[in-house]
Amino acid sequence: MSLYSIFTMPNFASLFLASLIVFSCSSFTLCSASESETDDETPFTYVEGTGKGPKEWGKIDSHWRSCDGGKLQSPINLLDQRVQVSANLGKLERDYKPAPAVVKNRGHDISVRWIGDAGEISINGTDYKLIQCHWHSPSEHTFNGSRYELELHIVHLSSNGGIAVIAIVYEYGHPDRFLSRLFHHIKTVGEKEKYLGIVNPGDIKFGSRKYYRYIGSLTVPPCTEGVIWTVIKKVRTASREQVRALRDAVHDGFEANARPTQASVGIPVSFYTPREH
Ligand SMILES: [Zn+2]
Repeated sequence: MSLYSIFTMPNFASLFLASLIVFSCSSFTLCSASESETDDETPFTYVEGTGKGPKEWGKIDSHWRSCDGGKLQSPINLLDQRVQVSANLGKLERDYKPAPAVVKNRGHDISVRWIGDAGEISINGTDYKLIQCHWHSPSEHTFNGSRYELELHIVHLSSNGGIAVIAIVYEYGHPDRFLSRLFHHIKTVGEKEKYLGIVNPGDIKFGSRKYYRYIGSLTVPPCTEGVIWTVIKKVRTASREQVRALRDAVHDGFEANARPTQASVGIPVSFYTPREH
């Protein structure tokens, strides 16, 4: 997105500028990449037939055309029989650290944003700084056709605007520790950012080193492509109460905020598993 286009997008200019201020961005590249994940009121829904459902996203705004015409759209169904065990993938290098954070109801989801340096992940020698995380329910990615109750997206950005998202899916079971830490804040979350104090992203447990890797897109408009996805293979658990709190907190109509899986034929998916001893 160019600087020019930012100021010729009447319906998004103010949102974009607001996100600039909120992010205290150091560069436009970084900001434009993060904008889509920080919009407030979004003029899209998850309900087909409303004119603004997932099948219409690409027609709502000219900047959202990827949602319709893109070739690498997310989420996808991850089929074990189609993944390639890749020798090029290594252990996910994660170097998170505790940092101040805020929680916010973005209408279509609940997000936690770190306002200090919360560390980074490293992929192929590039560092991607941890920016924020948010939840979708039910899950957006499916495993061999199975959809789960919840999916966490942990969003990271590189210094030149690259986006890397880690996804963790949850089924009902024992409470998730990270959500337990945030539970009361989620119950009382508002549309204004609420300060949480220090939040340790290391509290987000993966439970496995195994992961799927593919290049896809953001799962909300503008559906920007080129996103590096790391989907943790392990299905973790969250309690019914925790999932309900997230669904109750978002705006009416967004209780289910999962985009349907997109055509994935031809999208190469790699799989990392630690070497067996
Ligand atoms: Zn997401």
